[in-house]
Amino acid sequence: MPEPLNASTPIEFLKGIGPKRAEALAEDLAIQTCGDLLFHLPFRYEDRTRFHRVSETVPGPVQVQLRGTIRKLKEVQQKRGQRLEAEFVDEHGDALPLVWFKGAKWVARNLPIGQPCVLWGRISDYKGGRNMAHPEVLTLQEARAASALHPVYGSTERLGRFGLNSNGIGKAVQRLIAQLRELHGPEWMAETLPDGILAHRGLPRLATAMEQVHQPADVQAERLGRFRLKFEEFLFLQLLLVQHRNRQTTALPGPAFAEVGEQFNRFYSERIPFELTEAQKRVIREIREDTRNGTHMNRLLQGDVGSGKTMVALLTALLAVDNGCQACIMAPTEILAQQHLASFREMLGDLPVRVELLTGSVKAADRKPILAGLAEGAVHLLVGTHAVLEPKVIFHRLGLVVIDEQHRFGVAQRARLWAKADIPPHILVMTATPIPRTLSMTVYGDLDVSVIDELPPGRKPIRTVHRTDAQRLAVFGFMRDQIAEGRQVYVVYPLIEESAQLDHKDLMDGYESLTRHFPAPDHRISIVHGRMKPEDKDAEMQRFASGKTQIMVATTVIEVGVNVPNASVMVIESAERFGLSQLHQLRGRVGRGGNQSFCVLMSGKELGKEARRRLETMCRTQDGFEIAEVDLELRGPGDLMGTKQSGVLDLKVADLVKDRALLEDARDLARRVLREDPELDAPKHALLRTGVDRLRASRPDWSRIA
Ligand code: ADP
Ligand code: MG
Repeated sequence: MPEPLNASTPIEFLKGIGPKRAEALAEDLAIQTCGDLLFHLPFRYEDRTRFHRVSETVPGPVQVQLRGTIRKLKEVQQKRGQRLEAEFVDEHGDALPLVWFKGAKWVARNLPIGQPCVLWGRISDYKGGRNMAHPEVLTLQEARAASALHPVYGSTERLGRFGLNSNGIGKAVQRLIAQLRELHGPEWMAETLPDGILAHRGLPRLATAMEQVHQPADVQAERLGRFRLKFEEFLFLQLLLVQHRNRQTTALPGPAFAEVGEQFNRFYSERIPFELTEAQKRVIREIREDTRNGTHMNRLLQGDVGSGKTMVALLTALLAVDNGCQACIMAPTEILAQQHLASFREMLGDLPVRVELLTGSVKAADRKPILAGLAEGAVHLLVGTHAVLEPKVIFHRLGLVVIDEQHRFGVAQRARLWAKADIPPHILVMTATPIPRTLSMTVYGDLDVSVIDELPPGRKPIRTVHRTDAQRLAVFGFMRDQIAEGRQVYVVYPLIEESAQLDHKDLMDGYESLTRHFPAPDHRISIVHGRMKPEDKDAEMQRFASGKTQIMVATTVIEVGVNVPNASVMVIESAERFGLSQLHQLRGRVGRGGNQSFCVLMSGKELGKEARRRLETMCRTQDGFEIAEVDLELRGPGDLMGTKQSGVLDLKVADLVKDRALLEDARDLARRVLREDPELDAPKHALLRTGVDRLRASRPDWSRIA
């Protein structure tokens, strides 16, 4: 015997749906079960407390509600089928033509002709007058029974053809709720939150909350119901993340870095050419705490471009070396890995710490001794790219992995690193992409977060201006002055896949024009773009880095990490086409030396609202976190940092931007509950445990180190 209808019943079996509609619902809206349908919440509500007068209505997309009677029904023969026409007259005696192009026969049979009724629909322009096509028609009785706030649901064109437009979906939901109520009573949906939490927070029960959002009596009720659903969504997510993290730190041992030894101390006292910032010191202390006693470190280090994350990475690596472990630092690009290698070797000087590089372009013959050295433990610190993930790379005792600019590495790749040692290495993920707190609490909810919120002293803020294409000659003049003072200049062009051909042409035209305005031999220009061979790119980068060229024309390949302290001007062409975080990253390429630096955002004259806001934000502030917040607001969380794929952010009800406060609240509660009852064993937490287990099961791609 089939189970009685409940939330996990496939949607196909709901009356009026069937296999065809079910398939469309699954494909278009990911609705597979009755429960999924209930969680397909209205995205807005129409106010049905107000009636309009025909005489005051105007054509447009806004729906209006009218009260009156329908008369003068007329079927008109068309080429295909029939058209139905009628006239509506409101209580003030003003008339409005009505028309139906489809289903004329069926509509005609069901219209309450001559009876008082309520119409709901849009006014269109029609033959110099106005009319209303396909209105929703309700008897007065029906109108009174409907809620004052009429829910509007997301749908698709195809679903519309299946009779599942917003109203169709609404009716299916109402039908479902009515049936469930009849079967199971007022608690027609099994409660998922413990009584204690409901009572303490004054939250409605689940079934009530569902009724409040799908059939709201008033605005207040709708808010309360939705609030409960959001809170629940955040709470389970946070319980999952916090528990995940707790388990990781307690159950998984990490290599113990018990002592601060000779190399660390010698480096610290003899080799660092500057004083560490307070923020750097604090982060080192945090890392030290994490790693000293055999628990496992899984830490995200956020610090704006130029804040000195590399130094933190090196000090942590020395801590590993002093405790008999090896360390590995992964960079997203070959250029960056080489830069790290060079700066590590230079900084370490004659300390007996062997640093090697492993990237795709290291030749087989050079590889051999490096691999042997790693396996024996003679190589202490390995710098590399993806190449370090290859199975051939075997460590003697890997104790630490630092991942620079982590979002370029996939979860699976990180998992492979994890498998390279018997005791999983400590993980330090470094990023200059500032992650708003709300995001780090969800996407990286299982990582501890450290922040370097201070730049090394003496850095002058970068002056950022917005210039239009018409002012280009003045910008060239400015570049010339800077170059005459011995500085170097970046000129960056956008390049995106969709318009790669055109973008490449822009880049080349720009290069061409620069060679005319900045002729040799006084000026030398480098160019780097994606169509060049990696060796050629590197050679050009080197030429620029060593000062042989003064201008670097490039696409965004230079975005990550490149360090040329003498470069003081960043010109960004078509800046309106870049996202905020990309602009911020690019700007971070200058301002690395002692000189006043500049960023010039070039754009056309006409700008969209969002583009204008992005450029204004860039000119106003250099604070990466502030920029990230604006970015989050403009783009929504899904687009940020490829988090769309992570699955962590596919929230059904809550919104990371609008519901931040609620998220923090849920986070606090999750922490408190888990501190008291880490495995949710207590009977009063039984429901929480069920919910967390269910959520965990629905996210199979969750990695231990995601
Ligand atoms: P990022 O955080 O962007 O990776 P880097 O580690 O590349 O930044 O540091 C940028 C520059 O700042 C480097 O040249 C580095 O040597 C220098 N630096 C790092 N820490 C300090 C400090 N405490 N005082 C002065 N300069 C520093
Ligand atoms: Mg860096």
